[in-house]
Amino acid sequence: MESALTARDRVGVQDFVLLENHTSEVAFIENLRKRFKENLIYTYIGSVLVSMNPYKELEIYTKQHMERYRGVNFYEVSPHIYAVADNAYRSMRTERRDQCILISGESGAGKTEASKKVLQYYAVTCPASEHVQTVKDRLLQSNPVLEAFGNAKTLRNDNSSRFGKYMDIQFDFKGAPVGGHIINYLLEKSRVVHQSHGERNFHIFYQLIEGGEDDLLRRLGLEKNAQQYQYLVKGNCPKVSSINDRNDWKIMRKALSIIGFTDDEVEELLNIIASVLHLGNVQYGGEDSGSAYITTETQIKYLARLLGVDGTVLKEALTHKKIIAKGEELMSPLNQEQAASARDALSKAIYGRTFTWLVNKINDSLAFKVWTHSNASVIGLLDIYGFEVFQNNSFEQFCINYCNEKLQQLFIELTLKSEQEEYEAEGITWEPVQYFNNKIICDLVEEKFKGIISILDEECLRPGDASDITFLEKLEDTVGGHAHFLTHKLADGKTRKVMGREEFRLIHYAGEVNYNVNGQLLNGGQRLKIKKPKEILNPPQSQCPLCTAPLTATQFKNSLAKLMEILMSKEPSYVRCIKPNDAKQAGRFDEVLIRHQVKYLGLMENLRVRRAGFAYRRRYETFLQRYKSLCPDTWPNWDGRLVDGVSTLVKYLGYKPEEYKLGRTKIFIRFPKTLFATEDALEVR
Ligand code: ADP
Ligand code: MG
Repeated sequence: MESALTARDRVGVQDFVLLENHTSEVAFIENLRKRFKENLIYTYIGSVLVSMNPYKELEIYTKQHMERYRGVNFYEVSPHIYAVADNAYRSMRTERRDQCILISGESGAGKTEASKKVLQYYAVTCPASEHVQTVKDRLLQSNPVLEAFGNAKTLRNDNSSRFGKYMDIQFDFKGAPVGGHIINYLLEKSRVVHQSHGERNFHIFYQLIEGGEDDLLRRLGLEKNAQQYQYLVKGNCPKVSSINDRNDWKIMRKALSIIGFTDDEVEELLNIIASVLHLGNVQYGGEDSGSAYITTETQIKYLARLLGVDGTVLKEALTHKKIIAKGEELMSPLNQEQAASARDALSKAIYGRTFTWLVNKINDSLAFKVWTHSNASVIGLLDIYGFEVFQNNSFEQFCINYCNEKLQQLFIELTLKSEQEEYEAEGITWEPVQYFNNKIICDLVEEKFKGIISILDEECLRPGDASDITFLEKLEDTVGGHAHFLTHKLADGKTRKVMGREEFRLIHYAGEVNYNVNGQLLNGGQRLKIKKPKEILNPPQSQCPLCTAPLTATQFKNSLAKLMEILMSKEPSYVRCIKPNDAKQAGRFDEVLIRHQVKYLGLMENLRVRRAGFAYRRRYETFLQRYKSLCPDTWPNWDGRLVDGVSTLVKYLGYKPEEYKLGRTKIFIRFPKTLFATEDALEVR
């Protein structure tokens, strides 16, 4: 262990459980501040890693650093993401148990960087063979590809992941990475057609326009000027100083090749991307309430060619909707506004499908081919958006926050369970901990028949007058009395002034959020079922959209349930990321912002659970090794049983019986001050 404990006045404690006053948020933040000032961005809460985004390159990710953490016990070196990675790897190897590393935090907090560090750590430190090298390369190269298509510049983060990601890394019996699998969640498709001021569309569009070779652009009918494209000008932010689109294009193209995309596949992919840009430039004419017609023939020409569809069919798809009247399919004309939103819906759907197709292709290339699956052990990496609260929260935030509710539930269950298991394994009496169980909120969202999602489904499927408002009314009727649900209506028939009429509020574990149902929530009901990007306009006949495809919200609920199952079957490690300021600047510690995140990440609660019993626990050999010099009976060596050695040592040091307990393999110390006294004794010798 480094001498951080004695230097704690300056650099704080490296584990929050060692804070004298562990219930004090002020002390917690102070400790973060001290460490941040010294560039010590990592701190533990027991085995949970808290990570502060330094917003500058630190010299702590070199190969030497990797070596330092390799095979070393968690607590013997200073906190690091590599320690978490190594610990998970070793548990996987020695206990033969699948692992997962769950990374959470708000946008810009450093989640994706942390997951990349973990991946790099395995790529460098795990054993390799020729086949394995390819896998390692592909695993690493999946990042630039997914980032090009799934990341964008936002106000909070220049390289913000606009999708959630769970990645399995599969290891063979020798501990070499031999395969991988990625599951993506909730791509922010709305970004394809609209960006807020100061934000951009997905990187790929700019990369293609800036970096694409002339003849490629000619084939795609694109001009080398992002300003030409309606979908790229909404945020008024074509260039970002921290981003080199041209260079990123090269990196992305190379990555596609390494992953194994053929030239034809790349061309097909780029056709689709170009199509989206052309779609954005499709314009309409027509009277306000009359039928819309297309005024931009060039776009249609390119689109027909790039998508391989008939121009007339395409035009009809962009100006009409299919309705079913008396059992017959009819095409009913749209007005200008409707046609524009049909066009945007198509663009979003195409992009969304393309992204899924891309992930599937990457998965094919990462697939574990050589060995049978049963031999593999797995480390999963979850990099998923944290709790989101904006001025205006829509269906997307609803899903994201529901996801965080589920993860919190998992965290509570697993942390308490593992604490309990450790106490049992060590033969120490378990002392129950009081905590807030957020299952009640998860149920409110997902319960069959009376949860918010099933009510949404019902409204989406109901023919006739279903609308945002009828949805809200149904919610009021069904869950109106729930302790975590509010609308503007008060029980006595009056209205709650602070809330709009098209909103409902959920009281999440992390705070209250108002969700707007206005035109947003019913988007959750969109159905489209097309597999390959090109088929987007011609769904195969066998896939009747009305009978099989589940609704988006339910789909998300189901995919979350699957994720929870995956995570439950693994041993978890947690990384909690914190963003120090909104200005993306090094060295700035914005206390208000940080306090907010400490709350949303549930860190104080986490610390409370961890401290409920004992602040500190160490294996006997580690403890004895470190402190044996303080007692003549244990110095220089203790010959007997380890537990007797530790017992002799702590009695000599004057530990009182209520201050510690001896388990089967570990000593448990209740208060930090006991340990500090011992550390100080070591120092003055
Ligand atoms: P998130 O995925 O949580 O939204 P990112 O991982 O994309 O956030 O991090 C945002 C930015 O912060 C990165 O692009 C990088 O500039 C910086 N950053 C994050 N973590 C680190 C780190 N450990 N060291 C240096 N810079 C970092
Ligand atoms: Mg990210």
